[in-house]
Amino acid sequence: MNVWMNGGGHQSCGIAALIALGELEPPDFTCIADTGMEQSTTWNYLDKWIAPALQERGVQVHRIFAKDYATVGLYGGADGDTLLIPAFTNQSGQIGKLSAFCSNEWKVRVIDRWLVKEHGVKSGTRWIGFTVDELRRVQKDDKKWKKRYPLIDLRLNRWEAALLVKRMGWPEPPRSSCWMCPNHNQTEWRDIRDNKPDDWALAVNFDKMLRDKDPHAFLHADCVPLDEANLDDMNESLFDRCESGVCFI
Ligand code: SF4
Repeated sequence: MNVWMNGGGHQSCGIAALIALGELEPPDFTCIADTGMEQSTTWNYLDKWIAPALQERGVQVHRIFAKDYATVGLYGGADGDTLLIPAFTNQSGQIGKLSAFCSNEWKVRVIDRWLVKEHGVKSGTRWIGFTVDELRRVQKDDKKWKKRYPLIDLRLNRWEAALLVKRMGWPEPPRSSCWMCPNHNQTEWRDIRDNKPDDWALAVNFDKMLRDKDPHAFLHADCVPLDEANLDDMNESLFDRCESGVCFI
């Protein structure tokens, strides 16, 4: 079984274009996980451009809700008290970053459970939308799932994936990620602040709410409240981005 883990972003739209153009055979399942916190623009774009084009090739996009299949919320781990998002912390006196468990818990495992429960599929090949400029993110196969990188197989970089989208006549895809993701860079935070006021308000409140439980947890790399953070490019953080293969693609 070929299962395409559609992340809703630029590279995933490149894969959609290849399928729509008949240059890539359709997968058996096209899945996109809905954490309940994805930026609104991702769904608008998917519904308007991607899903109809794939439908014409007989491909249905399955939007799978974390609220139906995830077993943890914002906190988990053995003690049920571990923050699952890669938030920043100044607890030690220096700024550090927590591990990201959210993409696995809210996306990968959610899709896995859906595949087992609804279709009896327990193994196969996962399609992931990395491009050749992201080779270091490529993951090894595991016992159940082989990995396939359709854009890397075709030696395409991000820019060439974007050209495929253009070739389809689709507008530039929005950035895909949860509105509160600590992995946002300065450009992404500014995009939410300046263009998506509802998502920004949710993120600012979420950031404050984090500190009700842990006064050292922040969404922004400066460890300041999000609505007080300096979002200029000159203030870009050097922390690593998401490596999961299901977010930001
Ligand atoms: S976009 Fe960010 S917060 Fe959302 S699941 Fe991915 S890593 Fe976690």
